[in-house]
Amino acid sequence: MAAGAGVALASPAVRAQAAPRVVVIGGGFGGASLARALKREDPGIAVALIEPSGHYTACPLSNAVIAGMREMKAQHFGYAGIEDDGIVHIQQKAVRVEPDQRRVVLADEVRLSYDRLVVAPGIDLNFEAIPGYDEAATQLMPHAWKAGEQTLLLRRQLEAMEDGGLVVISAPANPFRCPPGPYERASLIAHYLKTHKPRSKILILDAKDAFSKQRLFEAGWGALYPGMIEWVGLSFGGAVTGVDAGTRTLRTEFGEHRAAVANIIPPQRAGAIAALAGVADRTGWCPIDPVTFESRLVPDIHVIGDAAIGGAMPKSAFTANAQAKACASAVIALLRGRDPGEPKLINTCYSLLAPDYGISIAGVYTPQNGLLAEVDGAGGTSPLDAPAAVRAEEAAYGEAWFETITTEAFG
Ligand SMILES: Cc1cc2nc3c(=O)[nH]c(=O)nc-3n(C[C@H](O)[C@H](O)[C@H](O)COP(=O)(O)OP(=O)(O)OC[C@H]3O[C@@H](n4cnc5c(N)ncnc54)[C@H](O)[C@@H]3O)c2cc1C
Repeated sequence: MAAGAGVALASPAVRAQAAPRVVVIGGGFGGASLARALKREDPGIAVALIEPSGHYTACPLSNAVIAGMREMKAQHFGYAGIEDDGIVHIQQKAVRVEPDQRRVVLADEVRLSYDRLVVAPGIDLNFEAIPGYDEAATQLMPHAWKAGEQTLLLRRQLEAMEDGGLVVISAPANPFRCPPGPYERASLIAHYLKTHKPRSKILILDAKDAFSKQRLFEAGWGALYPGMIEWVGLSFGGAVTGVDAGTRTLRTEFGEHRAAVANIIPPQRAGAIAALAGVADRTGWCPIDPVTFESRLVPDIHVIGDAAIGGAMPKSAFTANAQAKACASAVIALLRGRDPGEPKLINTCYSLLAPDYGISIAGVYTPQNGLLAEVDGAGGTSPLDAPAAVRAEEAAYGEAWFETITTEAFG
């Protein structure tokens, strides 16, 4: 829907009808799920979703696109279902927030007023973090950490690489979007190389000493891709201290690596609008109250999804969707003068190591001492010694999960 709809939403005539107004910035897993949950639970609330894109490109399963197992169009989702729910989709970028007036400023300078604002812009890449890695360098050393053109570029580079080439993946320190993502990517690239270019190798340079589902990944690599994937942690020189995009060279304190294909996953921070709204702190992320997801820094603004930080929940689409539902309930309670109850949130992250080999990690989170803390003993990972049938089942569960969450958010 065009910006005109947004103007109508903000006009005095509409405001006089006194329907509480919630504006949501960002139509990803967090923002889209939240807008829908609000409308479903309380149809009397006017909800506007600000999202510049006409369709959403999902990251989960995009590693399978890189490995040639899946086509990009399977990652695309439109906003027609959301509009059918009575949510106003304003296809523009939010460029500023005026918290004192409770207004969001759109790219065309139209101002949209809110009673409560939800900020869900996902991540931006931190191009100051690795010397030599800037916007221009992403064309030679793709990050592919926001799905879209970058995903396809990395796939094309792998397809063009000669057999025997070295693929280098650099993984950032915590926190970052999708903790198991770099290792799923290494696995699926290995699957592609094993099938098409079996003399090739993958080197993962990691800025940390441990990673999500590590024992499961390493056991899987041993079984599926023996000798193909090498992981170098922080203590052994894994942190990338600079790159030269022209020669695809990655520097570390321990030496240099020249890659045939280099995938740099740089450190990240909340999407830029979060800082512009004043809800991001010096870490680049947005501290929140774990019960309401209201910003610790600016009242009446809530932050969910990857942009938020507030405890142990990993940054995942599953988390963004769970936080969206909990935040929607809290926002309704606050608007209607009720007490928001304490939420219990679940996250499950599936990872694929091969088309029929899946693993997972699950956790339950609840507010504790001002943070979202993991409930002891409530979660866990796939068993280390599971038979092939269980791995195949988990691969299928992962696909079914993707189907469910994208239908809930966009279908
Ligand atoms: C390779 C990879 C694999 C992954 N696999 C999984 C997985 O298997 N399972 C899982 O749970 N998670 C997975 N994830 C993580 C998941 O994609 C993210 O955690 C999730 O997308 C976060 O949702 P979000 O709503 O916070 O942000 P996003 O989904 O990024 O949505 C943010 C939206 O905000 C919009 N936006 C930004 N700024 C503005 C602005 N100023 N104005 C208006 N709109 C704006 C953007 O256009 C975007 O549409 C994976 C990620 C990657 C990179």
